[in-house]
Amino acid sequence: MAGPNGKPLNKHKGYEIMKINEMQGNLNNVEGKVKILSVDKREITTSRGDTVYYYGLAGDETGVLPYTAWEFPAPIKPGDVVQIKYAKTKVYNDRMRLYFDSKTEIMLKPGEEMEVKNTYKDVKLMDLTTKNPFVAVTGKISNMSGKEYNKAGKTFTIYNGFIEDDTSRVRISSFGKPLENGKVYRIVGARVSEFNKQLEISIGDKTEVFIENEDMDFQRYYKLFEVDNPAGGITIMGFIITLGTKSGIIKRCSECNKPLSNGVCPDHPEKPTKLDIFSYFTLDDGTKYIQCIAGKNAIMPFIGIKEEELPHYAGEIYRMLEEKLYGHAVKINADFIKNEEDLSLRVNSITNIEREDISREIEANQQVK
Ligand SMILES: [Zn+2]
Repeated sequence: MAGPNGKPLNKHKGYEIMKINEMQGNLNNVEGKVKILSVDKREITTSRGDTVYYYGLAGDETGVLPYTAWEFPAPIKPGDVVQIKYAKTKVYNDRMRLYFDSKTEIMLKPGEEMEVKNTYKDVKLMDLTTKNPFVAVTGKISNMSGKEYNKAGKTFTIYNGFIEDDTSRVRISSFGKPLENGKVYRIVGARVSEFNKQLEISIGDKTEVFIENEDMDFQRYYKLFEVDNPAGGITIMGFIITLGTKSGIIKRCSECNKPLSNGVCPDHPEKPTKLDIFSYFTLDDGTKYIQCIAGKNAIMPFIGIKEEELPHYAGEIYRMLEEKLYGHAVKINADFIKNEEDLSLRVNSITNIEREDISREIEANQQVK
């Protein structure tokens, strides 16, 4: 006698040995060997009192399925390989799910290893999109630091920083799991979201993080027409063809950072103000042109003045910007920002280059590719 997939049905014992990718439809008495990828616990209150169940992901070399376990041997943890007997499968929310109930036998296989098929698509950071919200990415971590917060009497740490590969740099946040700066990680099941007009990825409790031994370094030169995504840390070379007439020194509230047109913050009139430089210009790289916004961190080193010198230059800053930016060939490092209709650039750093350098560097870069 054969089971639904032509596999022998063990009539004597009444269960069917299956791989994850064969578990289709509503089945009883499923037997298989799977690796537990994550274990989460949930408490619910029913008419019969409080009860606990477990849920997570289980996989084998053919795929990954979510599971729900009403009964679970306590010592099982992510990474364990288990033999299951008398499990069930059911379609729940349009997705197959494994169920372990009081009839299910779960036997731990200590020391056993199992390859699990990665069901997340590997993507480059430039190709991230919220339309494909769970992905696998590989990149190098920088600027990561932790911040503690309290929730329901417990202290948690959220880590924020950047991850970069050879195509882009994006923000990354991690709940509870610290990642080391300068190290390369492969992150499987990272979540893509949009925040502050840019894309970011986050590591949750179902995300798997592996350290990679290879190092990476980056040459992220692009032509403007090649980028249609809010990618970060990109180098563009071009000419500045317009300079916004309102570029110059502005006052901001020291409390909320809001730009102040009349010198007093409506929300914090008692707080002191601080000076900032703001510049906007159009960059043309021969393939396209784009609006750019540059703040203090990009402009001060570029024009060679320090923060405490700002009041002294208040009257002549526009002329200095015009002299150094307008009509000049520049190399900028910037983040692409997603606006309603198009992209613009938030500039991280600017350097002057010779006109000939633009064609020379573009050629050199094309040879590398
Ligand atoms: Zn304010």
